[in-house]
Amino acid sequence: MQILSVTSELFPLVKTGGLADVSGALPKALTSQGIETRTLIPGYRQVLERIGNSPAVAELTLLGVACRILQAELSGLPLYVLDATDLFDRPGGLYLDENGEDYHDNWKRFAALSLAGAMIGTGEITSWRPDLVHAHDWQAALTPVYLRHRSKQPLPTLLTIHNLAFQGQFSFDQLGDLELSPEAYGIDCLEYYGSASFLKAGIQTANLVNTVSPTYAREILSENLGMGMEGVLRVNRSKIRGIVNGIDTDIWNPANDPCLISTFDSETLDRRLPNRQYLMKLFDFDDRPGPLFSVVSRLTWQKGIDLLVEVLPRLVERGGRVIVCGEGDHHLQDRLRGLAKQYPQHVAVSIGYNEGLAHLIFGGSDFLIQPSRFEPCGLTQLYALRYGAVPIVGRTGGLSETIIDANDAATVSATGVQFHPVNADELEHAIDRAFEIYKDRHTLCEFQGRGMAADFGWESSARRYKQMFEELTGTSSSVVPLSSRGSSDRSPTLTGARAV
Ligand code: ADP
Repeated sequence: MQILSVTSELFPLVKTGGLADVSGALPKALTSQGIETRTLIPGYRQVLERIGNSPAVAELTLLGVACRILQAELSGLPLYVLDATDLFDRPGGLYLDENGEDYHDNWKRFAALSLAGAMIGTGEITSWRPDLVHAHDWQAALTPVYLRHRSKQPLPTLLTIHNLAFQGQFSFDQLGDLELSPEAYGIDCLEYYGSASFLKAGIQTANLVNTVSPTYAREILSENLGMGMEGVLRVNRSKIRGIVNGIDTDIWNPANDPCLISTFDSETLDRRLPNRQYLMKLFDFDDRPGPLFSVVSRLTWQKGIDLLVEVLPRLVERGGRVIVCGEGDHHLQDRLRGLAKQYPQHVAVSIGYNEGLAHLIFGGSDFLIQPSRFEPCGLTQLYALRYGAVPIVGRTGGLSETIIDANDAATVSATGVQFHPVNADELEHAIDRAFEIYKDRHTLCEFQGRGMAADFGWESSARRYKQMFEELTGTSSSVVPLSSRGSSDRSPTLTGARAV
């Protein structure tokens, strides 16, 4: 089976979050399931710098913009790059300009990406034709719409929602010509409370829609976490699936990670210590005893960083240290900087995106704090587990499935600390529990060992994707309804790893 993956991020070329990790790792995992993936990504400046000399397989005009499709390879995986100088070759971020504002033409940038994806799907651009198209998030969500528009017998499509908070919503005044038929602008497709939503159009049109954990697949049907899209999702309920993300265990391997000062595995946990010592020195902490907490995250309300800010003084009072590596909302960055200034021996903040430092933090801190208010899957807690940092997480989405809470029912299986509801009091209480775990080195090592032994590779999830692809292409009739999958009603403390 051959599939085209259409995505706006791809590790290691361009990454702002988990989407890049997943679209980078899944094709590799699918290879071992006998599935060939080619990936289409935008030709951002940083992408062209890496693969700019690649041959063009087509020159065309998309939505009035001159484009080329380049063919390249990334670690053995085939790539198509949409090279469109006017749309993608610019300074600033992937979606935001240098002032942190959305690019005014994001609608056109990602409609063009989706259109290119659809045209590869229909065979209009390349001689290669996939059996199905896998579109990721709102940026690629018009791909099924264009496919349906351009083909009498459109290819089957899967849309993966990595985070429902991002919906690609534009006022109709903002939109130029999408080169779609008038019906596409109507209530059954793009129209969404008087505006246009790319994600809604994708949900309505794709043959299957999945999200990145079974729990989140259920949560998004509720008013609480449906982000206004719950009505649309409920109507489409029968085609919604949930598959938990895996991690690339070749890249994320503490036994040979070049970003670490000292590599280690679960048998040699003492070799973790030099990483911890290095971090303490790097951030000018003295060597007084006490647990070292960490945060590697976008600094946003979703990630509960305001809650962290609220409880930090108490954590400091108890003798804990915290390293925060992240970027995001300016007022949260400022508050964290303020706390670092107030408690220089206890709080350190590294604002920005730093892949190497993130690895080192996972491999050197004692606990990772992830107080997300909602979390479709979360990868950070999985990296922390694999690197022996015990996660403290809000009980939501993928966090509730991937971390086994330390409580009386899980004395020999716990891998972290969960708290619920997600608020400052409960976070503080969870941190208190972490202090208890830290008190006894043997207990801490047990948590670390269990976390490191948990299997979060892609294999079982890749099998689930394969089943979904077979369902889509008609090679399997095993349509499993959402309600028969692992239930969120089970005790969240016992759902355990990979409850899919
Ligand atoms: P999201 O995609 O919502 O941001 P995930 O947990 O799914 O959250 O994925 C986040 C990814 O981004 C992980 O690979 C994490 O290590 C990485 N990351 C987040 N912030 C930073 C940072 N400041 N520096 C380096 N890596 C980061």
